[in-house]
Order: sequence, then structure tokens, then C-alpha cells
Amino acid sequence: MKSKSIRYTLMTTAGLVSALVFAGFIMSGVGSGNPFLSEASADQEKSAEAAVNRLPSYFPNTEVLRPDEMRITALGTGLPTPITRAQKSTAWMVELGNGDVFLFDLGTGSMENLFGLRPDFSRLDKVFLSHLHSDHFGDLDAFIVGSWLSGRYTPLHVYGGSGDTPELGTKAAVEALMKALAWDIKSRTGILPDAGGKVITHEFDYKPENQVIYEDNGVKIKSWPAIHSLDGSVSYRLEWNGLTFVFGGDTRPNKWFIEYAKGADFAIHECFPTPKGLAAFNDWEMRPATFVSSYIHTPPQGFGKVMSESKPRMAVAFHTVLLPDIQQGMLEGIRKTYDGPLTIATDLMVWNVTKDTIIMREAAFPDRVTPSSTTQAYKSAHRSGEAKMSKYIMGGVWKGFTPPPLPEK
Ligand SMILES: [Zn+2]
Ligand SMILES: [Zn+2]
Repeated sequence: MKSKSIRYTLMTTAGLVSALVFAGFIMSGVGSGNPFLSEASADQEKSAEAAVNRLPSYFPNTEVLRPDEMRITALGTGLPTPITRAQKSTAWMVELGNGDVFLFDLGTGSMENLFGLRPDFSRLDKVFLSHLHSDHFGDLDAFIVGSWLSGRYTPLHVYGGSGDTPELGTKAAVEALMKALAWDIKSRTGILPDAGGKVITHEFDYKPENQVIYEDNGVKIKSWPAIHSLDGSVSYRLEWNGLTFVFGGDTRPNKWFIEYAKGADFAIHECFPTPKGLAAFNDWEMRPATFVSSYIHTPPQGFGKVMSESKPRMAVAFHTVLLPDIQQGMLEGIRKTYDGPLTIATDLMVWNVTKDTIIMREAAFPDRVTPSSTTQAYKSAHRSGEAKMSKYIMGGVWKGFTPPPLPEK
């Protein structure tokens, strides 16, 4: 499809600067009055009409994915600090038209955004961790318990790389977390479905390039190593129905990403502040700022170079700082080395991806939400019975209050 590029800079009320270039992609809101479509070519408009009637914002649970469509939601796009109302740590959700849902990382604070979307938690049983920094898995505990309370009645499957030594691998981390949650899990088991309190860890060797680590229901997920802090960090590539989603996790620019993200429909790679930007933001000396920005992460010009080589249909930057001057600096840095389709992601951006179009919107939901609805399968899943307290504690029950009779099972 031959069409014009539309370039613009968007300033939101939060002072956020995002830069997007759409070359042959359709922005949301098919119909009149859309400033983006007013610049679209005839081809684009036709393709937009053929795509879907999508509302200008994404209102969770109001649209059904088409069988050939992938929806990607940014649940967290920031750093380990500060975790603010406006920006949580890294987490991404990928929903497919075949009904599958995949989570990539669960950084600190990201659960607030996930729960705000009120997803069907019975389908959210797969998490792929890029590495074990808290800004990438710090909400795994909140997810294990929260999703179990909200509709997940089968074990949670956690995928992640091995480490240099067994104690630095994903299996050891999840086992330790489950030990820490022993009281919590035991207290709820029986009230909640037994199987939902279980976690199955799939630890794989972090070294092999482009190895298949998951294959089911027409979905293949592959991994390759990332260069970040310690051995064990990985990147992922999800392939389904002719579409490719890539999540780089945290990494210094590396040859594997360039090779295996090549031509992806949607490629997410971190984009860190420059050494100077990080030094100013964290009030650090230049040496640690330079090391962190450019030796274990990727500064904007590095991000641009990586994307210029891998040439995805949409390049997505995350791990940013939501301050206008830093965002502007990042954009200018990227544009020195990359002029293709780009989004600097912020929390709750949503993309619907098909072979023909990529529609980008923001999710809209209130700050206060009720829990997700559960399924009948969740309600009737096996429960072994409520946890018991000791005679000593039960001896303290006050006779002045009589609870209502317990319904039969
Ligand atoms: Zn990290
Ligand atoms: Zn990180």
C-alpha cells in the first residue's frame, strides 16, 4: 500500500510528548472529523473502512477482537523509580483473536492498570518474564493472589530464563516468592479454587538463539539472550497467524534483537534516558549514569539504530521518564538515527494489529473500578474447604455477634 506519512507531535494534558509517525498505518476513529484521516490517502481510508469501526478511545470489554487481530496494551512503561499514578513499571498484555492472552513482565504498580481494564482473569494464566528486576516482576505476587481472587481457577504458568547459577534463575525466584506467600496461599486455599493457588514455572536456558519456549493453539514464542546487568535476561518473539510481536525486555543494543526482530509487525525495545538525562533525573554522578544508560540499557540514538536495522512495521520505545523535557530529548535522539514508524509508549496505550492496519488508541476507564466478573467454571471449580484456625483463636469468638448461617456447598 502506497501512502503518505503523517508526522505530528502530540502534547497531552499531562504534559507528555509523544511522537508518532504513521507510514501507511491507520489511526483510530474511522469517519469524518478525524484530523489524522483527513490527511490519509484514498488507500488508507478504504483500508480503514475495511478494518473495523473502532471508537477513538479503547473502552475495555466493549469490543470483540476479530479472529485475525492482535491487541497489545501497555500496562507499564516506566522505570523502577518513581512509580507514579501516571507511569508504572514494565508490563505488557497481548490478546489474540484466538482467545489467548499473554503477559510480558509484571513490573511494580502495573497491576493497577491491569485491574482497571477488568479482564477475564480465567484467561490470564501465562506470564513471560524478561528478567528478574523488580520493575519487571515486582507485581507477580500481587498478580498471583489478585487474579486468583478475580476469576483464575487454573495454575499460573510463569516462563523465564535460567541464571548463571540455579539461585539466580526464574525457578528459584518463583519458589522463593511462593514461600513468602505461604501464609497467604494457605489462608485462601479452599475458599478459592485449589488449582488457582498453584504456580508452574517453566525455566529455560537463556543462551540459545531464537529457541521455541512455548507452542500451543497456533502460537509460538521464541527467546534469545539480552545484554542487561547479569546473564539470564532474555527477549521474546511471539508468532501467530502471520503476525509477529517482539518484546525486547531490558537490553543494551545487541545483535540477536537486530536479527530476530527483523521485519516484526510490532517491536518493543527499551529506550533509556541519555547519560546526562539520567544523571539529572536521578541526581547521580556521570559514571554510574553513563554505565546504566548506555552499557546495560539503550539510549535514544542506540534505540534508533536498532530500529533502523530491524525495520518493524511499528517500533515502540518504553522504559522512559514521563517528563516533557526528557521525552523531547528522547524523541530528538531517536530521530537522529531512525525515521520509521514510532511510538514512545506511555501507560495504557492500546494497539490493534492486523496484517493491514495498526490502530493506536488510549484505554479509558475510571480510577475506581469493581472487580472483574468471574465465570461459572470459576464458581464451580474444586475447593477443598476453608482453612482452619486453632481452638485457642476460635475460643476468642465474641458471642455478641452471630454470623448468618453458612450456605450448603
Ligand atoms: Zn532491568
Ligand atoms: Zn527495567
